[in-house]
Amino acid sequence: MSSKVRTRFAPSPTGFLHVGGMRTALFAWLVAKQGGGQFILRIEDTDQKRKVEGAEEHIVECLAWLGLIPDEGNKERIRQSERVKNGIYQNWAEKLIESGRAYADPYSPEQVQEFRAQAQADKKPFLYRNHRPDNPPQWEPGLPLRFKSEPKEYVTHDAVMGDIKTGPEVVDDFILIKADGFPTYNFAHIVDDTDMEISHVIRGQEFIASLPNYRNLYEALGIEPPIFATVPHIMNEQGNKKLSKRDGAKDILDYRSEGYLPETMTSFLATLGWNDGTEQEIFTVDELVKKFSLDRVQKSGARFDERRLLWTNGHFIREMELSELYKKVAGFWPKTADKYDDDYKKKVLSLVQERLKYFAELPELSSFFFEEPPVDKNLIENHKKLKQYDKSQLKEMLETTKTKLEGIRNFKADAIQKALNELLEQTGEKPIVLFSLIRIAVTQAPASPGLAETLEVLSKDVCMHRIHRQIADFQV
Ligand code: GLU
Repeated sequence: MSSKVRTRFAPSPTGFLHVGGMRTALFAWLVAKQGGGQFILRIEDTDQKRKVEGAEEHIVECLAWLGLIPDEGNKERIRQSERVKNGIYQNWAEKLIESGRAYADPYSPEQVQEFRAQAQADKKPFLYRNHRPDNPPQWEPGLPLRFKSEPKEYVTHDAVMGDIKTGPEVVDDFILIKADGFPTYNFAHIVDDTDMEISHVIRGQEFIASLPNYRNLYEALGIEPPIFATVPHIMNEQGNKKLSKRDGAKDILDYRSEGYLPETMTSFLATLGWNDGTEQEIFTVDELVKKFSLDRVQKSGARFDERRLLWTNGHFIREMELSELYKKVAGFWPKTADKYDDDYKKKVLSLVQERLKYFAELPELSSFFFEEPPVDKNLIENHKKLKQYDKSQLKEMLETTKTKLEGIRNFKADAIQKALNELLEQTGEKPIVLFSLIRIAVTQAPASPGLAETLEVLSKDVCMHRIHRQIADFQV
């Protein structure tokens, strides 16, 4: 093996990419960047039946969104199906046949099934090699080609999982080339990782049980294996099973359309099962390139916590310059914002920036700035303090407020805040009562940005009108 760092992401184009696949890609990319090496994209499309139209482009788009641009295989795709056409796997298979380490499998699937059933009846694990034919036929396309294993004990070092000890009973004769002429994953990835001089094979947990078989094949080929790194599963929020679509494993690009930032995704994915040994929970890409290490990836499954994702995104949104954020949220305003100018929308954005967790939330947080919200009686009826007041008391408070605010000449937050404070003294009410009431009257929302700032942006006329409307509502 050369000492160059070369990692690869080797997805099968069988559907959309979700957090698990994306995290594997990120880890591989980080290891490559950190080692000054290359990150390679290889499309593993030998299972033509499972291939999904558009999946390959989708994968490339997901990688591009997070800035994980492959050094090889991005534009000039590396596809296993093309390597099949070029006879690459066949050549390697022939080498194994010549050295006596591969043979044609003469059994029909029904016969193999019988062997299996027999092993089960005998309460023994099924091993194909117990049925290895003495005189296999000459291999020809159309027959499966099997590896002739040499079972032995192994201690396999995995950069994440540590040393894995296995006995000879887990090494078996597996299929190299299927009856349809396509190589299996088990064979093709070893050929490809060797040809592409991959130094670190970083992949999901589903392949860990096959490591002894792979080692046996590497030995048969006389090749020193790469560094293995097995990334644990991503678990659901309760941590009791692998994350599924039901628990929110969605298409990575859905996060983009909901207004998550790529920097959120990289930080969140990296910390799904990895930390730097401190309490730090949010990392920039540059920090990750410096600090990431496979030996700090945890061995057990990592819990997918959607609230942490929201919190991380909120953090990056708050950190962003207003002008930059304004550009990014362009497609997310409510329809009613169309008739407002940039200046007004920027003011609104500066107020909601603090609370915005993802861009698709923008209409919910800002619509009252653009259209008159309908009066929502529940807001007062369910308010823990306001529900204790009579309508006539509330009406009186609002009338006093209206008169006070009307008297402000320069309707700016400072002056408004001063007036609001005076109103507290005047009415003898607490902020939780008076300010909540005013906020509900003007926004009809359960929460809003700072009251004085909100009133300023809405303008005096709009505030007067909405307070008046609330007063009228108390009368009916
Ligand atoms: N094609 C395999 C998959 O998508 C990749 C496994 C690997 O990274 O080697 O599961």
